[in-house]
Amino acid sequence: MHQLTLAEIARGLADKKFSSEELTKVLLARIAQLDPQLNSFISLTEDLALQQAKAADARRANGESGALLGAPIAHKDLFCTQGIRTSCGSKMLDNFKAPYDATVVAKLAAAGAVTLGKTNMDEFAMGSANESSYYGAVKNPWNLEHVPGGSSGGSAAAVAARLLPAATATDTGGSIRQPAAFTNLTGLKPTYGRVSRWGMIAYASSLDQGGPLARTAEDCAILLQGMAGFDSNDSTSIDEPVPDYSASLNDSLKGLRIGVPKEYFSAGLDPRIAELIHNSVTELEKLGAVIKEISLPNMQHAIPAYYVIAPAEASSNLSRFDGVRFGHRCADPKNLEDLYKRSRGEGFGPEVQRRIMVGAYALSAGYYDAYYLKAQKIRRLVKNDFMAAFTEVDIILGPTTPNPAWKIGANKNDPIAEYLEDIYTITANLAGLPGLSMPAGFVDGLPVGVQLLAPYFQEGRLLNVAHQYQLNTDWHTRTPTGF
Ligand code: GLN
Repeated sequence: MHQLTLAEIARGLADKKFSSEELTKVLLARIAQLDPQLNSFISLTEDLALQQAKAADARRANGESGALLGAPIAHKDLFCTQGIRTSCGSKMLDNFKAPYDATVVAKLAAAGAVTLGKTNMDEFAMGSANESSYYGAVKNPWNLEHVPGGSSGGSAAAVAARLLPAATATDTGGSIRQPAAFTNLTGLKPTYGRVSRWGMIAYASSLDQGGPLARTAEDCAILLQGMAGFDSNDSTSIDEPVPDYSASLNDSLKGLRIGVPKEYFSAGLDPRIAELIHNSVTELEKLGAVIKEISLPNMQHAIPAYYVIAPAEASSNLSRFDGVRFGHRCADPKNLEDLYKRSRGEGFGPEVQRRIMVGAYALSAGYYDAYYLKAQKIRRLVKNDFMAAFTEVDIILGPTTPNPAWKIGANKNDPIAEYLEDIYTITANLAGLPGLSMPAGFVDGLPVGVQLLAPYFQEGRLLNVAHQYQLNTDWHTRTPTGF
């Protein structure tokens, strides 16, 4: 049962092959048995899950249907869940029970999804390895000595290990696509504004976007359908109709123009990954796509720009954690300053503190023009590169990451080495574009992802291309040994 995809679960439930309650029990038992090896969950919500599963079964018995009705999922632990700990992977929020549900959580619950728990993540979503979590590192089910990617590493490891079919995640600079690549999953970062950020704890507000992590493009279409849509509670939510993502999965790829940026194949890319990317291009050509070399000349400036903008926004967003209103408070504060200093010093881990300091520096008087304003100008250039490219092609294709998943601890003393691994994913966030990563093969037994980028609101096109690719390849069906 644990091998079933969301689409198969929906069919099984509709055909009364099993109930949501039965399936939920099987998966909860599997999590209890296997998750100690992975550490992919921060909290389990067994009681809520069984209650939601029974309610979904009752709704089906009453004649209701729906692809998510009775489907087990989990939420990255930065989506607020009413009455349930919402930690954001931080000691700061270890004791925080959200007073309300995030829009994404509420929408999925209304569609009948069953919440099994809250998944592990890098502290405040800062990281590419899921090593900065207060609750400990998450292990990659493909090799327990390696990282699963981050910051949505818990969601990715759990889905890859077949502990559940799909999970929510967020992507500020690659945190859906990069863990998808590292664990052999399909992950989609929607257009900025497509999925409500209300109740999604902010890291960098102009870059953050929620989206689905699943094994197949077909399942990402189902989960995204339940997450997307306008929300008046989020002032950056865009009031644009949500298409039926499943309906376009089988569109023909004949004549689809795919752009491959020449800058993607520089010295930093593992040549074995380059070869797998070329293979995926050949596969799509066989399906009728036309390949064109393109250029994204400002790509080289994206990492420094991102690592100014994201920490700048983070330093502002995280100022609310002051030991006064909610979250960690130090013991016996001597005065107000001592309360702030010790509460924040104790509550935030080293990576979060580093980013707050970088961000506060970049925003400070005298440096604002030199760093923050300059980074914003680069951001515009990166966006303009994409706009020019999309006048010539329908999709941009390349690697999701320059290297496969590294060993846990490998970048411990070198945060910049880890930042550089984000080179292929962060540009989509800077430009606000949708991007998808899908399985494309293996290097040394570790999964490799191919990334597809599309113009604004063309999530359907990304899912369509990925689905057609998955009908003709079997990388996404591989299961890690032991799971
Ligand atoms: N690795 C990037 C960072 O640490 C992206 C993280 C994310 O997308 N949340 O900022």
